[in-house]
Amino acid sequence: MDRVLILIHFFMFVKTLLAVVISRSHPSLLKTNEFQTSDGYVALEWNYEKNLGPRFWPFLYPGCAGISQSPVALRTVDAVSDPSLGPVELFGYNNRYLTMKGFNNGHVVKFQVIAHAPPRPKPARLQNSRYAVDNSYHLAEIHIHWGNANNRGSEHSLDGRYFPAEIHFVHKLSRLSMDQALNTPKGLAVLGAFIGIGQTDNPAYEPITASLAGIMYKNMSNSLPFRETLRKLLPQDVSQFFRYDGSLTTPTCNEVVVWTVYKNPVWISMRQMSSFRRLMKTYQNEPPQPLRDNFRPVQPINGRQIYKYGFH
Ligand SMILES: [Zn+2]
Repeated sequence: MDRVLILIHFFMFVKTLLAVVISRSHPSLLKTNEFQTSDGYVALEWNYEKNLGPRFWPFLYPGCAGISQSPVALRTVDAVSDPSLGPVELFGYNNRYLTMKGFNNGHVVKFQVIAHAPPRPKPARLQNSRYAVDNSYHLAEIHIHWGNANNRGSEHSLDGRYFPAEIHFVHKLSRLSMDQALNTPKGLAVLGAFIGIGQTDNPAYEPITASLAGIMYKNMSNSLPFRETLRKLLPQDVSQFFRYDGSLTTPTCNEVVVWTVYKNPVWISMRQMSSFRRLMKTYQNEPPQPLRDNFRPVQPINGRQIYKYGFH
């Protein structure tokens, strides 16, 4: 325990030191990356660039230096088959007439279901007996990571291959608040799906990609009517997936996530993919800087067992 405390204090010290050094040597960087924390200190905000990018996160946020981090490289041959893992039961994923709120936070674009048209059905959730004792998880948000070129963008890799994007459906243990879930083992269950580029538009993604022009800059939000079902944002074939214990892939990298990553991708068109690449990570009144390559590189597996379900 003492060693852990010493480590934490060491990281806090390095974090402060780094903040001072960077603010002195790169005053312009501080201008775009500083923010005031609740306790009044000026901190540096993380990003996906060389400065303050994923390699720096462990120094700025000690949680990102953990040993069960995400994403990871998924390898079919190394994963252990476990027929008792699934299937993951989805509830409310076939509801229609949702209203979603889109938000550009400068790191990713997020979507939250904010309302259902009447008659009001139950909100989306998932259940899987292998997640935890209390195994009901409600959908909290959906967000997407992408690359600026088609050979990168997904966070996980599949047998050495990266996809142009990856969508995450973040669910939290139903009985907990988000704050509690972020501090509880298996507090979150994330469904991940690779996004590939196909020949035709994907109609389910159209409301999302069409809405992006309205949240072009950081801190912009809008609401969008969503006439499709959430299920259609997932791959058509969800019979095969990987399962492992990991973390959030963004600071503060909490190791509280049960990951389910589908083997088969969902497809969107090149035109739809391009609308993500036009987003900006800067505020509207700043010189524009594109939001792109917002994925964390794969992290060491450190002896964790990766399981697979539905592979024959
Ligand atoms: Zn994510």
